[in-house]
Amino acid sequence: MSLSQLARSIRESATLKLNETAALLRDKGEPVIHLGGGEPKSKAPMDAVINCAALLNTGEIRYTPPDGIPALKKAIVRYSEEHYNKLVSADNVIASGGAKQALMVLLHAILDPKEEVIFPAPYWVSYPEMVKLAGGVPVPITAEDGTFCPTVREIASACGSYTKAIILNSPNNPSGAVYSPDFVQEMVEFCEKRSIYLIMDDIYNRLVFDGKKAAIAYDFMKAPLEQSKLVVINGVSKMYAMTGFRIGWAIGNKPLIEAMATIQSQQTSGPASPSQWAAVGALNGVQSSAESLRVTLENNRNVMMERLQAFEGVNIRKPDGTFYCFPDFSAYMKDSQKLSNFLLEKVRVVTVPGKEFGFEGHLRLSYCGTIRDITEGLDRIKWALDPNSANELYLGDRKLTRDWL
Ligand code: PMP
Ligand code: GLU
Repeated sequence: MSLSQLARSIRESATLKLNETAALLRDKGEPVIHLGGGEPKSKAPMDAVINCAALLNTGEIRYTPPDGIPALKKAIVRYSEEHYNKLVSADNVIASGGAKQALMVLLHAILDPKEEVIFPAPYWVSYPEMVKLAGGVPVPITAEDGTFCPTVREIASACGSYTKAIILNSPNNPSGAVYSPDFVQEMVEFCEKRSIYLIMDDIYNRLVFDGKKAAIAYDFMKAPLEQSKLVVINGVSKMYAMTGFRIGWAIGNKPLIEAMATIQSQQTSGPASPSQWAAVGALNGVQSSAESLRVTLENNRNVMMERLQAFEGVNIRKPDGTFYCFPDFSAYMKDSQKLSNFLLEKVRVVTVPGKEFGFEGHLRLSYCGTIRDITEGLDRIKWALDPNSANELYLGDRKLTRDWL
C-alpha cells in the first residue's frame, strides 16, 4: 500500500478510538464502564432539536455559505457579546464542522511549512497531530514544577523565529485546570508583543465550577480585533451536549476568517445545514440545559474526588472545570498505557492514558457519565490496584477473585 508520509506520521485519536473500544465490548455484552469519554450524556436542548426538525421537515436540505448560515453567525455574535462582553461582527466569525474543524482550518490558514505551534502539556490529544497535518511542528511545553500549567517564562523561552502560534485550552482537557487570569493576561500581552497568534480553545469555558469563571482573553487584548492575532475557538459540543451535530466556530480578524472560509469552501463546504440550525436553536434558546449540565458535572466531580481520596498514593488536583480529572497513578504503575490496558482487560474500565496528553504516569478519568459509572468504575479500579481490597469483585453477575489480576 502506498500511503503519504503525512498519513503514515499521523496517530489515530486515542479518545475516539477508546469510544469505539467501549462500544464494541458493550455490544458483546461486556459490563464496561466508560471513564474515558469526552461527551456529556444529557440530551441536546429542545430548541436545538425543534429547529433542526423544522428544517428536516421542509425536505429542502441544501448547501450553505462555506462559513455558515447568517442566522448561526448572528447567534455566535450574540453569544460573544453575552458571554465575553465582546462585540464582534459576523465577518469575524466562521462556523465549521466542530471546533475540531475550526482549529484545523485555522492551522491551515496560518502555518507555513515547519512553523511551530506551542501548547502547554498536558494537552488535548489532537493538537500535535493537527499541527502536523497542517505542515507545522508541534511544541508541547511541560511545567518544570510538575504542575498543569507552565509559566509564561517557560513558554517564552521556547519561542523562536519559527513560532507562529500558541494554543491555550482553559478549562483544560485533560487536567480540568483553569488557567489563572494573570497567566492569560501575560500570554495575551506576550503574543501581542511578539506578533504571535494566540489561539484560545474555549470549548469548555461554560463548564466551570465553584462559582469561578475562566479568564477571557479579550479582557486583556489591547489591539483592536482587526489588528489582533487572537483567535477564539468554541462550539456547541460540550456546553450543550451536542457532540454529534458537529458545529464549532472561530472568531478572529476579518482577513484571517476570510482565508479560513476559502479553505473550508474547498475542503468541506459549509457545515451540515440541519446541524447549523440546531446550533442556532441551542445558542438562541432557553439556556437552562447548559446550566443544569454544569451543575450536574460539578456534582459528579465532587463524587469522583471523594472516591479518589480512598486511593493511597494517588496524587490528585481538584479540577475547576471540564468533565475530566487527571490523577497521577504512577505510584501504582509508571506506564500509563499499560495501566489503562490493565484496567480495561481486568475490570472492564475504560480510562485514557496520560501519555496521550503528553503526561506520563497519569490517567484521564471522565465524570460526564452517571454517578453509578463513577462510583462503580472507581471501586473496580481500586479493587484492581489495591492489594488490601476484598478478595472478590462482581462485574455484573461474573465473580472475579484476586488471582485473576
Ligand atoms: N478542543 C478540545 C480541548 C476538546 O476537548 C475537543 C473535544 N472534541 C475539541 C476541541 C473539539 O470539539 P468538537 O470538534 O466536538 O467541537
Ligand atoms: N474531546 C473529546 C475527548 O478528548 C472527544 C473526543 C475527541 O474529539 O478527541 O475525549
